[in-house]
Amino acid sequence: MIGNIKKTQAILDKYQLKAKKGFGQNFLIDENILKKIVNEAGPDKETGVIEIGPGIGALTELLLESFRKVLAYEIDRNLIAVLQEELKAFNNFKVINQDFLKTDLKQDMNYFDDCKRVIVVSNLPYYITTPIILKFLEEENPIEEFYFMIQKEVGERLVAKKGTKDYGSLSVLMDYRTDARILFQVSRNSFLPRPQVDSVIIRLNKKKLNFGINNEFAFLKFIRNIFSQKRKTLANNLVRAYRLSKERIQEYIKEIDLNENIRSENLSLEQIATLYKNIFEAPN
Ligand code: SAM
Repeated sequence: MIGNIKKTQAILDKYQLKAKKGFGQNFLIDENILKKIVNEAGPDKETGVIEIGPGIGALTELLLESFRKVLAYEIDRNLIAVLQEELKAFNNFKVINQDFLKTDLKQDMNYFDDCKRVIVVSNLPYYITTPIILKFLEEENPIEEFYFMIQKEVGERLVAKKGTKDYGSLSVLMDYRTDARILFQVSRNSFLPRPQVDSVIIRLNKKKLNFGINNEFAFLKFIRNIFSQKRKTLANNLVRAYRLSKERIQEYIKEIDLNENIRSENLSLEQIATLYKNIFEAPN
């Protein structure tokens, strides 16, 4: 197995590599954690897997053994030869040397034409956690299930409930688009080099709630806008973002039985959707 400290160090030495901080390179060196992630994802020879940032292939190796095929995106040119050499025993592996955020996901899905379904399993580069998750949720693709290793604090924000300090636009967006669940925690000691933060494995299952919203894009922007200044009230955030008078906005807020001075962190997804529709999509 690649994913232990001795083998990882040996590979880094063999190819004269140093972990690149700028690419968020912290390699998993805990075999138990690797096995636990793959078991949670449910090994299945009819399922294809997308992995972002395979690194030196610790998780990739197990994924290749457990699933039909793996498509990986690795931005670091120097790691491509390493992956091709270390994983040469597998013929169900493709690695693309590209920034995942710039890929044409829909087109790349052709690789999986012999798979029943596709999931994502990935120890993410933490500096672009949110853009990666948003790309999967906002661009058209048939993927329904995701297993991400992310920074613990970010995981807590994604699953936060209304009224808690972690609740914000990301929590609302996740609630709108996914069932999100933290599966287990991973200590910073499971990585080489050891990062400053602990991690969690999170599972996202896509869902589609229907609030009868016409302009989805505007609604997603509305969610971001009402949380843009966390210390301000909902009304003040709305005044700042839209050309509406404070009095008018307070009327909209009272119309749905909320206090005019309420803060956005105390609004549920349903209340946010109702407020959005009343302000922007109600028939005159
Ligand atoms: N999967 C490996 C593991 O678990 O040991 C490495 C995980 S490491 C946290 C993140 C990986 O993502 C690194 O290999 C890094 O080079 C890669 N990466 C960083 N930015 C990326 C991007 N925009 N697109 C694709 N890969 C990226």
